[in-house]
Amino acid sequence: MINRRKFIKGTVASIAGASVASSSLANNLAAKAAPKATRKPVVISTWRHGMPANEAAIKVLKAKGKAIDAVEQGVRVPEADPNVMTVGYGGYPDRDGHVTLDACIQDEHGNCGSVTFLEGIKHPISVARMVMDKTPHVMLSGAGALQFALENGFKKENLLTPKAEKAWKEWRKKSNYEPVINIENHDTISMLALDSNGDISGACTTSGMAYKMHGRVGDSPIIGAGLFCDNEVGGAAATGQGELVMKTLGSFLVVELMRNGMSPQEACEEAVMRIVKKIPDYKKSQIGYIAINKAGETGAYCLHRGFDYALTTEDKHELIDADHYIK
Ligand code: ASP
Repeated sequence: MINRRKFIKGTVASIAGASVASSSLANNLAAKAAPKATRKPVVISTWRHGMPANEAAIKVLKAKGKAIDAVEQGVRVPEADPNVMTVGYGGYPDRDGHVTLDACIQDEHGNCGSVTFLEGIKHPISVARMVMDKTPHVMLSGAGALQFALENGFKKENLLTPKAEKAWKEWRKKSNYEPVINIENHDTISMLALDSNGDISGACTTSGMAYKMHGRVGDSPIIGAGLFCDNEVGGAAATGQGELVMKTLGSFLVVELMRNGMSPQEACEEAVMRIVKKIPDYKKSQIGYIAINKAGETGAYCLHRGFDYALTTEDKHELIDADHYIK
């Protein structure tokens, strides 16, 4: 297991000088309330595998590329890395030994694409992008998603690496399904970017919970749950036990809270509090949110200590410990 703490750490801080004006739900004042951009471009993503992913994304943004291209290019990095065992190629399989992938993407116009329960394709995020760009639909699943990918030039590959297969065989000895907090048997990459044009997009891709039931789909490919962007307001994304995020429609909630005047940090905290209030056994799970607004302010919050996120601007590239609810 990788020791996240070997990396540079900072503290969660909001950007001085930028403030979010209050607005009322009824009047939907998001456009007026959005503070002026104080910094751009900005990329934020979940966990330490966000560091190399952000590097790829900021390259696109520094060349005046679009946020949607940056997030796609960014999350492709951990998707292709066999040592990241929670995303794409090399991901842990489900309990029956299948690596099944979930991903979604959303652009500055609110267009979105998603794939769920996809097997054999290394870059589900790019299939999701193609669903968005080339079909009248938002989500393709399972065999249909694979068929669509193959028809559009993606190659079928075996994504189960010897390392992941070995871990699965070890797990099968007891077959005990108990996701362990911060033990990296899940850890999606979710990424949000603000480009130099001031547009926001997001992407989210995962192999889901290790040893999940065959057919289980989490929050990560669900627009509004694992990811949500509204270019008037900002974007939000989630990681952790997806069932809790789905029950509270977490990313949509974070964006709506920002629409109504909260900073990204306050909105992430409130969305975690919603889980605390609504889900009795929340302590058994880890959940982390990240968020960004039109000003380039960012926030992150989680249930348990141990969630970190990568934050990259033109002159900074840091891995930061998110503040947590359970102290
Ligand atoms: N949210 C993912 C899922 O439930 C896993 C994670 O991000 O840790 O599939």
